[in-house]
Amino acid sequence: MFHRKDTRAVRVGDLTIGGSNEVIMQSMCTTKTADVKATVAEILRLEEAGCQIVRVTVNNKEAAEAIKEIKKQIHIPLVADIHFDHRLALAAIENGIDKVRINPGNIGRREKVEAVVKACKERGIPIRIGVNAGSLENHLLEKYGYPTPEAMVESALFHINILEELDFHDIIVSLKASDVPMAIAAYSQAAKAFNYPLHLGITEAGTLFTGAVKSAAGIGTLLNMGLGNTLRISLSADPVEEIKVARELLKTFGLITNAATLVSCPTCGRLDIDLFSIANEVEDYIAKIKVPIKVSVLGCAVNGPGEAREADIGIAGARGEGMLFRYGEMIRKVPEAELLAELKKEIDIIVDSYEKTGVIP
Ligand code: SF4
Repeated sequence: MFHRKDTRAVRVGDLTIGGSNEVIMQSMCTTKTADVKATVAEILRLEEAGCQIVRVTVNNKEAAEAIKEIKKQIHIPLVADIHFDHRLALAAIENGIDKVRINPGNIGRREKVEAVVKACKERGIPIRIGVNAGSLENHLLEKYGYPTPEAMVESALFHINILEELDFHDIIVSLKASDVPMAIAAYSQAAKAFNYPLHLGITEAGTLFTGAVKSAAGIGTLLNMGLGNTLRISLSADPVEEIKVARELLKTFGLITNAATLVSCPTCGRLDIDLFSIANEVEDYIAKIKVPIKVSVLGCAVNGPGEAREADIGIAGARGEGMLFRYGEMIRKVPEAELLAELKKEIDIIVDSYEKTGVIP
């Protein structure tokens, strides 16, 4: 099985997917692509949340045309999602797209595929082959009867072969399914069949809550196996939430080095403060910090500090007076009303120092 580090490195704009590069977080716009203002506004919000690559639907001429203007106003690579129509792919490429998601086997006549591949080659633009269990080719459904991991991998190989025959190798592959075990099996088998970088995703995963759980189960399993070079969490929600879930998932597996982590206690009968709102506020506060700091928020001063020995900084609540602690040791007592403000100040001091010295003080 090809580990993520053993995959081919493929350039996408100024980023590289695959090889020893970090796992890239991506999302997809929910706006009409032709509405440049709305699309750019959404992409800028995604960028601020940490999104590294963004995809837009290119389903008509106006959308392909809008790419030119969108590209001028954003700072991350832009991907065109195209189904069937090779003219839209050519227009997107002409207008400066950084990557195309299209399945060559669905484009039609050979010369149409050749035209797209030639345009991509000339500009160094990669192609993502997006296999989806819900839209497998008829010849595979006839062969297998229904979507299976084997059919999905065969579909990927079918499209890969078309590109390889044209001596095109800047390929990224996804094998998405809504059924989590099927997606895990498909990606696992794909990693044995070829070494192109894998774009992980569980499609139609659901709302913020159910989609995050399903995606974490599926993508988390694959990340833990050493698979996946880029990922998109698919949610029926604001795409910014997709990035938040993606970042948390990557942090869980130690695949992001520059992000802050929150540790918060599960609460119990000893709870002395309104921990839920404090934990949420701290989580929001550290969301954009690009420093590997571990912050802990605990409900009581009895067991708390000892339970969070690894935290760089933390608070333990108490009625009237709580405490600030580092690595399980109290550094000072603080009136309850000032606890949160004091924690934020301490976080700022650590972040500031890390940015100057490269080490957590
Ligand atoms: Fe309970 Fe305190 Fe532990 Fe939180 S830190 S789970 S309130 S004992």
